[in-house]
Amino acid sequence: MPIDDADGLLAHIAAQVRPLLPQGQLPQYIPQLGRVDKMQFGMALLMLDGREAFVGDADVPFSIQSISKLFALMLALERVQVDQEAGATRNPFINAGALVVTDVLCSSFAQPELALLQTLRQSADDERVDIDQIVMRSERESCHRNAAIAHLLKSYGRICNSVDTVLDTYCRQCALTMNTRQIARCALPLAISGRLSAHRARERLSAVQRHSVTALMLTCGTYNAAGDFAARVGLPMKSGVGGGIVAVIPGVGSVCAWSPGLDGAGNSLAAGRAIELFAKHTGLSVLGSPARTFKAL
Ligand code: GLU
Repeated sequence: MPIDDADGLLAHIAAQVRPLLPQGQLPQYIPQLGRVDKMQFGMALLMLDGREAFVGDADVPFSIQSISKLFALMLALERVQVDQEAGATRNPFINAGALVVTDVLCSSFAQPELALLQTLRQSADDERVDIDQIVMRSERESCHRNAAIAHLLKSYGRICNSVDTVLDTYCRQCALTMNTRQIARCALPLAISGRLSAHRARERLSAVQRHSVTALMLTCGTYNAAGDFAARVGLPMKSGVGGGIVAVIPGVGSVCAWSPGLDGAGNSLAAGRAIELFAKHTGLSVLGSPARTFKAL
C-alpha cells in the first residue's frame, strides 16, 4: 500500500491488529498500570515533509514509562557532556543507565522533571503533556528494584545526588502522560538526516548524537526483544510498559503506536505488530536497500 494514502494505511493496520488487543497482559508491578482498558489502540505517523496520519486512540494520553528514557537521554545530551559522565560505560535504556541519566539531569536543573516536562511540551507543541500523579505515586511506593539499583550505584559513587532525589525524579519522568501524536512529534527530530537542511532549526542534537541515539534504539530499545525487532522491523524503536512504542524512520519521519496489553518481553503486543506491519507495507526499514526505502515514498 503506498504511503501517499497514509490514513488508509493506518486504518488497515488498526484492523489487522484488532484481534491482538485482548491477548496482551497488563503490567502488575506498577498497580495503577494494571487498571487500564486493554482494548485501546492508537497510532500516529508524522513525516518530515509535514504529512500526518492518525488512527484510533491516537489522542488518548497514556503513561509513557520507559519511552521517557529516550527523552531524558535526548535532554541530557543537549545539555551536558553525557558521553563523559554517563553514557560511556552504561546503557541509558536499561534501568541502571537510565538512573544515571536522571542523576545527570538532577545535577543540571533545579527542577529536572519540570525541565523535561517543559521540553516535551515545547517539542510536542502541546501544553497537555503532563505527569500523572497517581501513576507516579503508584510506582514510587513500589519501586524496590530501582531503589536497590540506585543504592548500588550510589555505593560505587556513580550518582551524585541522593538516592531519594534520583528515585523521585525517575518515577516522575516515567509517569509522564502523552498521546501517540505528541510522542511521535517529540521523536521526529531524530529522523532528520544531514541532507535535510530545511529542518535545521528543529535540530537540538548534533548528527552524531542523533546517530548514537537511533543506534541505541535499534539495538536496545525494546528490552530483550530488540534483536528480534531489529530483524523483523528494522527501525530504531523505544517502548515502555505503558504500551507505547515509538519508531524513527531516518530521513522520513516517526511513528508511534500504543496499546496497553504487553507480550512476554514487556513490549505492547498490538503496537509492536502495528509498527512491524507499517515497515512491511511501506518497505521502510534501515535494513532495506535505499532504493527500496525511497521507492515507497
Ligand atoms: N518505570 C518503569 C521501571 O523503571 C519503567 C518500565 C518500563 O517501561 O520499562 O521499572
